[in-house]
Order: sequence, then structure tokens, then C-alpha cells
Amino acid sequence: MQRIDAIKSLVGNTPLLVIEYEYKSKKRLIYAKAEHLNMTGSIKDRMALHIMGKAYASGALRPGAKIIEATSGNTGISFSAIGAALGHPVTIFMPDWMSEERKNLIRALGASVELVSKDQGGFVGSIQLAEDLATSEGNAFLPRQFSNDANVEAHFQTTGPEIFWQLSRHFITPQAFVAGVGTGGTVMGVGAFLKQVCPGLKVHPLEPANSPTLTTGHKVGKHRIQGISDEFIPPIVVLSELDHVVSVDDGDAIIMAQKLAQRLGLGVGISSGANFLGAVQLQNELGDDTVLVTIFPDDNKKYLSTDLIRQETVQNGFLSTEVKLTGFKAISRVCNTGCDLGLRNDGR
Ligand code: PMP
Repeated sequence: MQRIDAIKSLVGNTPLLVIEYEYKSKKRLIYAKAEHLNMTGSIKDRMALHIMGKAYASGALRPGAKIIEATSGNTGISFSAIGAALGHPVTIFMPDWMSEERKNLIRALGASVELVSKDQGGFVGSIQLAEDLATSEGNAFLPRQFSNDANVEAHFQTTGPEIFWQLSRHFITPQAFVAGVGTGGTVMGVGAFLKQVCPGLKVHPLEPANSPTLTTGHKVGKHRIQGISDEFIPPIVVLSELDHVVSVDDGDAIIMAQKLAQRLGLGVGISSGANFLGAVQLQNELGDDTVLVTIFPDDNKKYLSTDLIRQETVQNGFLSTEVKLTGFKAISRVCNTGCDLGLRNDGR
């Protein structure tokens, strides 16, 4: 438990960025939670730490047990790092088409990577293979991120309250929240918390326009926004509790992520570009002054062999070409160490 407490200071409690931009010459703001600044560079550290903390408490995870998970990448990196820090061997099943950086990062953290081909069932196949290995291993723990309520709870208890208190310190009330759906933990957890404290707030899930799993219910087409829209609607996503789905083209998301890096020095991943454009779309719909909050889920370091570093062709209807980034401020962390977010809101 002492080791978990040490890791806690490296996970969550991230700054909230206030991105200033012009859209068709109108000045606007978007609030983005800087999740790329977590211990391993992604929002998934929050979920991994929370799930492991709960599993220790319930006895489902015992010292030295093997952690086995199916993941498209960031979750694997988080469990590998936190598993290593807490003395657990880790095995990660992932589709073989994920970026090389993701696979190598996991290996570099001492975990073993089992690649799953399309013929073996891709994402869905990975989940079954993880279950099968756990059954044959005996002393194993399966976090089951797609169906574990503790994934949603991690964001209900940390990401959501942090956003609320960071805005409250500046007397700002959020009006809408948008986030790309991978497991759906972020959109469901942050959404539920913010709705509870800000009645009337809208919560929008986001998906790639090229692969609209949420609106069709199954896998359609291909897309390049790694980390979202796997191949099915995860069990923890309850669409009836959310507002309409926002869709963003993957090429548009790539250009937006490139702009955030090149104009503002914010080295974020492709889903951050998508989330930013989702927020732009919602301001087009709800009004220029709408207080829109989103997430920058990870950094750009895992995408250095992908189209994120290549010239992307602008297509008709892209929004990123209309966005002129002009600057940003950062609302600092909620408090320095270990304070109870629910009890303290003075920002010191
Ligand atoms: N973006 C990236 C880069 C991710 O790795 C993930 C997690 N799969 C998400 C967005 C979506 O987060 P969530 O799983 O909470 O829906």
C-alpha cells in the first residue's frame, strides 16, 4: 500500500489547459485536461491505479499475481509500469497492427506482449485470449477494463472532480463535455460527476467519422485515431445516458494534433486532436461562448511511426483548417499533495 501511495503522486491531478483560438475570426476558448502529463503519458494511469487499489482492498489481486489484460495500447503501458512498480508480472494481449512504439514501450517496462492478428479475432479475440490465459495461470488478475465499473469510478472520483474544482476556482461552470470513447470510462465517469454538480450539462461521446461504431453498434470501416472506437460498444457505455454522438474524421484529427504541437508546443496524440475538434463542433452547435471541456488523453511519443508525423491531405469539410490557435493558459493542479478533492477547493 505504501508503494501505491508513492505512485499516486505521479497520477492524476493534471493541469486544465485553457486553449485560446479563433474560428472563422471569432475568438473562443476550449478547456482541455492535460492527461498527457500522467506518469506514463496517458489518462489510463488513473484507471490502472484505481482498479489495482480496489483489487488489493477486495483481495482479488494478491502480491506477485500476474496481471493479464487485453488493450489497444495505453492501458497496457499503464498496467506494465504500475505492475512493475508494485512487483507484478504483466502480460498484455494487443492487436498486431498497433504502433511499434506502443509494443516496445510495454516490452521496455518488462511486460510480455502477445500480438493478436485479425484472423485471431483482433480486439475481441484479445479479450478471449486474456481470459483463457488467466484461467490456465491460476494466480492471475484480469482488470477487464471494458466491463469493470471501477474504470468509470476512477474518472467519477478523480478526473471529474478535478475539472469541476479547477473551473470553480475561476467561477466558471462547465456546460458541455466531450470525449472520444475507447472503453468509455472517461466519458461515463467524468460525465456522470459533472452532471451531478452542474445540472443541464451536456455529455457527448465522440467517434471517428470513418468508423462509426457507436452509431452503428458494430465495427465499420477503418480509422487512425488509436485508443478510441475499438470494434464494439463496451458494456460500461450507456448511450441512453449521453447526448448525441459527435464524429470527427481521422485526417482532420491528425492535422489538429499537429497544429496543437506546432503552434502551441502541446505534444499530444491523435485522439486529443479529435477531442479538440469535437469541442469546436459543439461550440458551432451550442454557441461560441459555451464552456466546453474535453480531454487530451495522451502524448505524441507513441505515434512517431504513424501518420501523425506525415503531411496529411486536407479534405473538404475539415474543421482544423478553420481553427487558428492563438495561445493557452493553464489552470494549475487542484492542490499539492494528497488533499481530498471533495473537501477542499481553495486551490492551494
Ligand atoms: N484516447 C486514447 C489515446 C486512449 O488510449 C484512450 C483509451 N483507450 C482513449 C482516448 C479513450 O478513453 P476511454 O477508454 O476512457 O474511453
